[in-house]
Amino acid sequence: QNSSYDDNNVFAKILRDELPCFKIYEDDYSLAFMDIMPQATGHALVIPKFAAETLLDIPADMLSHTMTTVQKVMSAQKSTLGVEGIILMQLNGKEAGQTVPHLHFHLIPEHLAKLKGH
Ligand code: 5GP
Repeated sequence: QNSSYDDNNVFAKILRDELPCFKIYEDDYSLAFMDIMPQATGHALVIPKFAAETLLDIPADMLSHTMTTVQKVMSAQKSTLGVEGIILMQLNGKEAGQTVPHLHFHLIPEHLAKLKGH
């Protein structure tokens, strides 16, 4: 664990079952759940079950497990939401706009094509 990791961040609390979330996938190494303030319908988050604040704070094997979960969620979004495009976003550090100091990947379905009626 990184010495600067804050155990009281909301995703740490979600991992300890101290806060509720809408879970969509879970295994021994990662958790996927819906974003509480979605930027688009189906906006999901994937987090490692590891105390990392940014991408630089996680070992490669744990990151690999997390990215496999990212692939699973992306695949499910494509099949259930009927979208083709999905944005993967990940912010490192508050200067970059990171608000929750536990590493997380945003999976944001792109609904633009539908809005344009294509
Ligand atoms: P960041 O800006 O740190 O990359 O994004 C943090 C994300 O976490 C935001 O999209 C925000 O809506 C989401 N979020 C913050 N608090 C909670 C929470 O308690 N539950 C869930 N499900 N999402 C949260």
